[in-house]
Amino acid sequence: MKPFEYRRATTPDEAVATLSDHPQGHYLAGGTNLLDLMKDEIENATDLVDLTRLELTEISALPDGIRMGALAKNSDTANHPLVRKNYPLLSQAMLSAASAQIRNMATNGGNILQRTRCPYFYDSATPCNKREPGTGCGALEGLNRTHAIFGANEQCVAVHPSDMAVALAALDANVRVIDSSKEERVIPFAEFHRLPGEQPELDNVLRHGDLIVAIDLPKNGFPEHSYYLKVRDRASYAFALVSVAAALDFTDDQISDVRIALGGVAHKPWRALKAEAFLKGKAATTENFTAAADAEMSAAKPLEHNGYKVELARRAIVRALQKATGTA
Ligand SMILES: Cc1cc2nc3c(=O)[nH]c(=O)nc-3n(C[C@H](O)[C@H](O)[C@H](O)COP(=O)(O)OP(=O)(O)OC[C@H]3O[C@@H](n4cnc5c(N)ncnc54)[C@H](O)[C@@H]3O)c2cc1C
Repeated sequence: MKPFEYRRATTPDEAVATLSDHPQGHYLAGGTNLLDLMKDEIENATDLVDLTRLELTEISALPDGIRMGALAKNSDTANHPLVRKNYPLLSQAMLSAASAQIRNMATNGGNILQRTRCPYFYDSATPCNKREPGTGCGALEGLNRTHAIFGANEQCVAVHPSDMAVALAALDANVRVIDSSKEERVIPFAEFHRLPGEQPELDNVLRHGDLIVAIDLPKNGFPEHSYYLKVRDRASYAFALVSVAAALDFTDDQISDVRIALGGVAHKPWRALKAEAFLKGKAATTENFTAAADAEMSAAKPLEHNGYKVELARRAIVRALQKATGTA
């Protein structure tokens, strides 16, 4: 690990002002991702601005939804009564991640900003456009069993690892951010993470110094009919190969609203918009779920070693919808 200066911020404005003065600096939240990256010298922060004393840990009801502080711990968020009751999809997704110890340290802001688990990103002996732009992508022709089947290009085939982010994508979250102008801006979750494009080193649309202060969810958390399905190599303590966040409203077997987001398949949480469009207005049957999954997966572009993800995701979409509707 390279030496760095440590500073502790006591207010959000102080945090933003301090980091803005240090172009190679990083915010430090739970540290469960950033410190590993620094130890491996994948991230080489010259300055760390510790956020953990900021009063951004509250989870509170809004007239039209809920606000979750950026510094609230993942465990506190997942187990909060408002989240458990009104947003069980989010609670399930968060509790499927990592281990109890890590969830006790990890924060909401840090979770959605965690970096890919692509092994080439972590191996500085191999090329990686995300770690070192312009060097190439080791995974493209390498061991790409865990990599993307949607939205990738020759620059980068890495996937976003967060479970929480998949549920937030399905629930149409908004990310609240402040910057050195002290203006607060709201970023719809669908626009928060990026596909690799020509700048695979950028995972999201934040600029240096931007501080996430909260994540908001709208009122409808689909408390009656939702399910998070995570498929992984081990039953616990493993990232998703494929995950599905499914949420529906339906009456008399007519689906009035449906949200499906996939994890483990793209550089960002992947909203299954084709599947959603197919299902709206239709009956909640396995036949329709299967046709919706087929519609989504027909656009998948697997690599040499991850063709299995296409069928896995297809089946996982059907299974998650069956579980969410109680038709399994
Ligand atoms: C062994 C292991 C297994 C894991 N398994 C899973 C899993 O199965 N599923 C899963 O989803 N995750 C998993 N994780 C990842 C874990 O969830 C993340 O490491 C954690 O959520 C990151 O949160 P943090 O607060 O520790 O972030 P940090 O490591 O402190 O920060 C991460 C990044 O976010 C930035 N940042 C943090 N807070 C803010 C803010 N408020 N505003 C702006 N920038 C900010 C930091 O500067 C840094 O760049 C695993 C981690 C480990 C170590």
